[in-house]
Amino acid sequence: MGFSIPIYRGDEAVPEMVRYCRENDLDRFLLVSDENTHAALGARAEAALKAQGWDVRTVVLAGEEVIADEEHVVQVLLAAGREERMYVAVGSGTITDITRFCSHRTRNDFISLPTAPSVDGYTSIGAPLVVRRVKTTALAQPATAIFANLPTLCAAPREMIAAGFGDILGKYTSAADWRLGALLWDEPYDAKIARRMLDALQACVDDVAEIARASEAGITLLMEGLFETGLCMLDFGQTRPASGSEHHLSHFWETKLLQEHRPAILHGAKVGIGTVFVAARYEIVRSLSHEVIARRLTRVNPPGREAEIACIRQVYGALADAVVETQRPFLEMTAADFEALKRRIVDNWDGVQEIAASVPPAQEIAGLLEQVGGATTPQQLGLSAEEAQAALNHGHYLRARFTVAKLGHLMGLW
Ligand SMILES: [Zn+2]
Repeated sequence: MGFSIPIYRGDEAVPEMVRYCRENDLDRFLLVSDENTHAALGARAEAALKAQGWDVRTVVLAGEEVIADEEHVVQVLLAAGREERMYVAVGSGTITDITRFCSHRTRNDFISLPTAPSVDGYTSIGAPLVVRRVKTTALAQPATAIFANLPTLCAAPREMIAAGFGDILGKYTSAADWRLGALLWDEPYDAKIARRMLDALQACVDDVAEIARASEAGITLLMEGLFETGLCMLDFGQTRPASGSEHHLSHFWETKLLQEHRPAILHGAKVGIGTVFVAARYEIVRSLSHEVIARRLTRVNPPGREAEIACIRQVYGALADAVVETQRPFLEMTAADFEALKRRIVDNWDGVQEIAASVPPAQEIAGLLEQVGGATTPQQLGLSAEEAQAALNHGHYLRARFTVAKLGHLMGLW
């Protein structure tokens, strides 16, 4: 279908936004930012809208750590009246998600003014929210227009730029996992969308030096990549193209940090490291010849429904029921289904290897992350070696998708 959202990129995002509002007869606004993003761009946007004589309400989100949770959603809703207002999100992923959700639920639209190239969610429809310290994704709406102010984006903290690049690098493994799911588990696949996403990724990798310098050219490319992958998800109607086992590792860590009341880690930083780990899994797949896999799979038995559920209960505690439900397609596999899957894997092993070969080696991905100043080990993010291993072992339970992690788990490859 092809979603199209007007996206401005350049040095004049605020005047361009004002022009857009005038052309669309908008004159009532609710602007959402936090202390940092208000200083970076929010105050300027607010002043420009007020200078037109328009009715502008402003919420500068407060709190030690701004996350998209009940506390911050209510801060925005308290400022919202029942009248029609165009919401304006001035911030990165979190503020955009809060605004996406609040605007949608109050039957309004929103404009996005991104302040960091840190995440591919600007063009997304889903709002990841944290409710009672559990992450959930609420379906909402994409922005009606995006005004990307390049000087603001280039001046974003380095770790946020590195996180955006990490989220982009994750497409190496998410795209491979997506193909794997189509090949071995009949998941819906769209080669055109996959191509668009990989082209956007390649453009960023080719110019990694510019991204590392945070030059306007580099940050433009990174933003283009993030917008494009968001649009790919919109066009496909779900996150499958851009979210594979690297994202499941990230979700696993995020869940753990939330439950233990530890500070959050940037989404893309976790995804970047997840990508390094998953790339290493693909290296293992690549090293297994057709002959070896055929021999090994004759000895493999299904993991066993009761053992799987016991493991999920132990790892996921209060969330276990929901996780078990998610895993139903795998848990309900009969012995015959499992044998058929084994056969299918052996019969398609050349295809599996070709997919594995599309993922660069883990070392190369770590090198790219390093170039932009991103973390390359979980320890650099404050995650222990045990937590890294636990995510590798159990992250795949979080989604009903067939990924390299699922392949390895079901077939005992590691
Ligand atoms: Zn992501």
